[in-house]
Amino acid sequence: MNTPNLVVGAGITGATIARRIAEDSGQKVTVIDVRDHIGGNCHSSVDSETGIEYHCYGTHIFHTASKRVWDFINRFSSFNSYRHKVLTTYQGRTYHMPVNLQTINLYFGLQLRPCDVAEFIKAKSAAENISNPENLEEKAVSLIGRELYEAFVKGYTLKQWGTDPKNLPAEIISRLPFRHTHECDYFTDPYQGIPIDGYERLFDKMLDHELIEVQLGKNFFDIKESLAATCRIFYTGPLDRYFDFKFGELGWRSLRFESEVLGVPDYQGTSVMNFADIDVPYTRIHEWRHLHPERSIETGKTLICREYSVEWHCGDEPYYPVNTDDDRRMLELYRQEAAKTERVFFAGRLGMYKYYDMDKAVLAALELCDGL
Ligand code: UDP
Repeated sequence: MNTPNLVVGAGITGATIARRIAEDSGQKVTVIDVRDHIGGNCHSSVDSETGIEYHCYGTHIFHTASKRVWDFINRFSSFNSYRHKVLTTYQGRTYHMPVNLQTINLYFGLQLRPCDVAEFIKAKSAAENISNPENLEEKAVSLIGRELYEAFVKGYTLKQWGTDPKNLPAEIISRLPFRHTHECDYFTDPYQGIPIDGYERLFDKMLDHELIEVQLGKNFFDIKESLAATCRIFYTGPLDRYFDFKFGELGWRSLRFESEVLGVPDYQGTSVMNFADIDVPYTRIHEWRHLHPERSIETGKTLICREYSVEWHCGDEPYYPVNTDDDRRMLELYRQEAAKTERVFFAGRLGMYKYYDMDKAVLAALELCDGL
């Protein structure tokens, strides 16, 4: 293949890189993706029965504190005013998530005020004597105490990661804030929303450039040997796959989605309901209509999707990097190998083996292009 630039993967990282190269260097870019659609895991589609747009790989909320990222992405779509709020169900009752004052008061049957929370939690976590939290369980217990941890984090995390929270890095739980007030927005970033015409349209626009050619259903490993020696490759596929798994397989968690159309206009009253109980087999239910409050759906039906976290085997869709100590050791070896490759740039959640949110993926891609 005789292209000066090949982007492997048409997800948010690949689309950002392709756009920047086309605009900044005026060179041709070919974007390939093994799937039959653009957008990677951000891909959205419209359900034919209900007319409701759904996110094929789980709910994706765009949120960022970076003006640069926001300005870049807004060139291709405007965003609605959606603010993500998550509820969690535990033993038949519904609470705010992340844990906030409502969660604490409802769980303990108290009427604490914001100024009481620090003291209350301190008393609970002091008994645990954790000065330097070394894993997810210790971190969560030090932040919210053992009872709230057992109720809202332990079961959910076990289902999500398939392993005891003691074996997981503390950083995973640092993604969730802990609030002393009734604030219930999931994200606090100043810029948030869902692309007004959906993710599909956003990616169409990002890749709509006279110097960008998109080829779908194309596997990089089928064409790798035929690439011109001068071709620059921006690889956003799995890092270990690029090196033929020579140091072993990096661990991932995968997801399974089960969709259902229900004959009610509103099933759960919110876009994402988490399920904290270990004996509920799914982690959350997505109800897509709530992501676009500005759209009217008159069918009297709703579309929901149960999300199951599943063990990943080579060949399954990778979603979440597990990041065990073994993974980190292996990653280091792959990174050393990657640093030796000429004209190959690794990027994105798969290429970097990083738990990126969309905005972080865009920022990293913009910065990669700054450095070219
Ligand atoms: N988490 C939890 N209970 C919840 C939601 C999240 O214990 O109700 C923990 C869980 O370990 C999860 C992590 O917090 O993996 C990060 O959650 P986040 O919502 O950021 O995950 P994502 O949206 O990326 O799936």
